[in-house]
Amino acid sequence: MAMHAPLVDAPLRRPPSGTSPSFRPVLVAIERCKGCGLCVDVCAPHALVLDPVHVNAMGHHPVVLVDADACTSCAKCARMCPDAALSIFARPRGA
Ligand code: SF4
Ligand code: SF4
Repeated sequence: MAMHAPLVDAPLRRPPSGTSPSFRPVLVAIERCKGCGLCVDVCAPHALVLDPVHVNAMGHHPVVLVDADACTSCAKCARMCPDAALSIFARPRGA
């Protein structure tokens, strides 16, 4: 039976303007990510980066959301990901 890595997200590395955002529009299944960077390249507001330090169990540098406020929830990154490692959530009104 095929087993899928759990949806475990990495903490935001660089909260915008020094505060922790209350809403996170992107969750990364870091154990599924192979660090290909396709999602980083397609993100126009540059809200994603490959983690330069940490590696996952497969030995890849996983993508991390670094600017939650810049993310528009457009989901282009999730559509680009060949490993279905990204989950996108729409921003609630007022968040
Ligand atoms: S949902 Fe859109 S804006 Fe947000 S990280 Fe993905 S590509 Fe970038
Ligand atoms: S496209 Fe998918 S596998 Fe590639 S870096 Fe982004 S989340 Fe990881």
